[in-house]
Amino acid sequence: MRYLDEYRDGDAARRLLDAIARAVTRPWTIMEVCGSQTHSFLKYGIDRMLPERVALIHGPGCPVCVTPVEIIDQAIALASRPDVILASYGDMLRVPGSAKDLLSVKAEGGDVRMVYSSLDALRLARDHPDKKVIFFAIGFETTAPANAMAAVVAERDGVDNFFMLTSHVLVPPALEAIASAPDNRVQGFLAPGHVCTVTGYVDYERLAAKYRIPIVVSGFEPLDLLEATYMLVRQLEAGRCEVENQYSRSVKREGNPQALAVMDRVFEVVDHAWRGIGVIPKSGLRLKGAYTRFDAARAFELGAATAPATESVCIAGLVLRGVRKPTDCPAFGTDCTPEHCLGAPMVSSEGACAAYYHYARQRTGR
Ligand code: SF4
Repeated sequence: MRYLDEYRDGDAARRLLDAIARAVTRPWTIMEVCGSQTHSFLKYGIDRMLPERVALIHGPGCPVCVTPVEIIDQAIALASRPDVILASYGDMLRVPGSAKDLLSVKAEGGDVRMVYSSLDALRLARDHPDKKVIFFAIGFETTAPANAMAAVVAERDGVDNFFMLTSHVLVPPALEAIASAPDNRVQGFLAPGHVCTVTGYVDYERLAAKYRIPIVVSGFEPLDLLEATYMLVRQLEAGRCEVENQYSRSVKREGNPQALAVMDRVFEVVDHAWRGIGVIPKSGLRLKGAYTRFDAARAFELGAATAPATESVCIAGLVLRGVRKPTDCPAFGTDCTPEHCLGAPMVSSEGACAAYYHYARQRTGR
């Protein structure tokens, strides 16, 4: 197939749905890891077209949603300084910290800018040598290579007013935390195709073998998700626990060597806190070696980020672990909407709560 429409072909979708229905003989619970996959499942109504015996759990693959509140509070503190320009992706500006969000800081006079990439932030640093420009660098293995490259370019060109406040997280340790949890219900994973385009899936093979759980690397279009679900169901029915690659037009087993090399050059793997989940061992990235000079946490002596004690009706942690659905939240669609968000999964374009709000709200009547 060459064109996007072909991945949304209704007849092909019906054939795959029929094949899934024929293959399923008992109930299965599968997790689509990535928020973009969740959005496609709901946007196209695929979750309701699947046989009842195939239950979907939405995973933690929304980078904005899993950024801890304590690091957002650090970003807010930095953005409030008169000598700082703080730059980040649009969604990050609206995610609540413990008291306010970055857009509020902007409204109060802070210099907060929306950018589309770390290189945009680096350009800001060149254009404003009198300011310290801090890029709030969040995301999975998809955004880490580009952010690593920004550090390499800044180092090469001697840009000494550029910094990064990093909250980079890694997918395989999160899947391991889910698979090893005593209350885990997930029997198979649809792995995130964009992440695996960078990393490949060798790490996922280790997980599949260790936890006896099948994994299919999936794309994001309707036919991608249906084909990947069919592949996963066939593995489950046959008792196989392998990694299969549905997204072969983008993903190679060994990943992207150049992207992995620049990540390895700039970052080291560390324990990291996930919003609503807690600390997952070896699940984050931190600037290392010569690149620590760009680490905003060090340069501005922020100290260890500590989670504030707050009370909230938000059940984002349960949603991110797939324990509860967004519609189980008492605030969903009432106190919490995309216009007035109480939690990150409603803010982010990849968040599960936003997906339910946009595509499945009528199911709740809220
Ligand atoms: S609907 Fe809003 S308050 Fe409820 S879990 Fe989602 S983000 Fe949190």
